Amino acid sequence: MKFTELDLKQGILKALKKKGYEDLTPIQEQTFPHVLKGRDLISLAQTGSGKTAACAIPVVQSVDPSLNEIQALILVPTRELALQYVDEIAWIAKETTVSAFAVYGGFSIDIQKSKLNHGVQILVATPGRLIDLLYNSPLRLAEVRYFVLDEADEMLNQGFLTDIEFVFSCMVHEHHTMLFSATMPNEIKHLSKNYLEDPVMVELIADKKAPDSLSHYFQVVQPRHRFEKLVELIEQEKPNQAIMFCSSRNNCDKLYDHLKGKVKSVEQIHGGLDQNKRTSLFRRFKRRDIQYLVATDIASRGLDFSHTTHIFNYDLPQNPEAYTHRTGRTARMGREGKAITFVMDRDMRKLNVILRANRIKPQWIGDEPDLSKAPRGGGGRRPSGPRGGGKRKNFRRKPKSSR
Ligand code: ADP
Ligand code: MG
Repeated sequence: MKFTELDLKQGILKALKKKGYEDLTPIQEQTFPHVLKGRDLISLAQTGSGKTAACAIPVVQSVDPSLNEIQALILVPTRELALQYVDEIAWIAKETTVSAFAVYGGFSIDIQKSKLNHGVQILVATPGRLIDLLYNSPLRLAEVRYFVLDEADEMLNQGFLTDIEFVFSCMVHEHHTMLFSATMPNEIKHLSKNYLEDPVMVELIADKKAPDSLSHYFQVVQPRHRFEKLVELIEQEKPNQAIMFCSSRNNCDKLYDHLKGKVKSVEQIHGGLDQNKRTSLFRRFKRRDIQYLVATDIASRGLDFSHTTHIFNYDLPQNPEAYTHRTGRTARMGREGKAITFVMDRDMRKLNVILRANRIKPQWIGDEPDLSKAPRGGGGRRPSGPRGGGKRKNFRRKPKSSR
């Protein structure tokens, strides 16, 4: 189906044409009518399948430009994703009078407050900064009609359930709630049961969470050979652009230090960097000014990198969902992409869980291990719900993070 067949505002059609969007992607085709009709919705589709526009186009279409109040609120788990999401809305809405803005941590809250005073109709936010603004400014959510949780499962993983519930309690106008992700583990059920009304489930990932154009390679390595293997693979594969994922800031630091001496264009991104640096790295990587990025999982959710051809899991992801999101930074929109995952002897149990849950047929570089001998069950999942468990200090507990 073509965008021109839809009854969209002229300004939106003009922007889509300029951007070169002609046909709706399958998730867009299936999601649009429900958003326009105002149904609550859970939309599950592969990474890189166009979920942002599936939500953003009908939301831009539906907000009332003459009402100077926040009418759509979009929550996302990371600051970079907030930036990316608001950029996408901004170009869709460019030829209309709808205004969008993003608020996220690590950036002056006063500047954000003054922008909000000037009237914003679509607000993209990370949960932490949104809560700060709700407590410390006259931010009004009374007119919100669309509440969107992008990567909702990740926000719950990060311990934001109470914050999200608080946000729900601030929205007094009847509103539609929509959840988008490539993965929706069981933890999401509580949220949908309590806060969504008779939701439509649009699910395009029934048997495959990863796109067909993504190939999954694995290599068994000994810890002391891992770095040289990585360098060898980089030389062989000559990635156009690649992300090397590590499981902690510390591991990122170490790998980055080593890699600096071997390749020219490499940077690292993790939650310990100041936000200006993070923003600039993210923008430069998106433009392909940087070839290699060593990253923690903060770069794994939702970010759209069209030049990235390779994902290296230098450390094995924690669980099947983390594998899906990390590797989903490549092979977007039908492009080819390769994921290469290092596995050490101690990882075999977790690997089994990842392969089975994601129905991956692994291709092996080097010797294939006998996985039938590895323990099969349990082990791989992150604990669900808020981390840490302790009492809430002030209004919310800042999620602990080593990402
Ligand atoms: P997801 O959220 O499903 O992971 P994104 O919304 O980030 O995917 O979209 C992936 C890429 O596809 C982006 O680069 C986006 O610009 C592009 N895209 C989305 N919809 C269309 C479309 N209808 N036609 C062409 N490109 C599209
Ligand atoms: Mg997305």
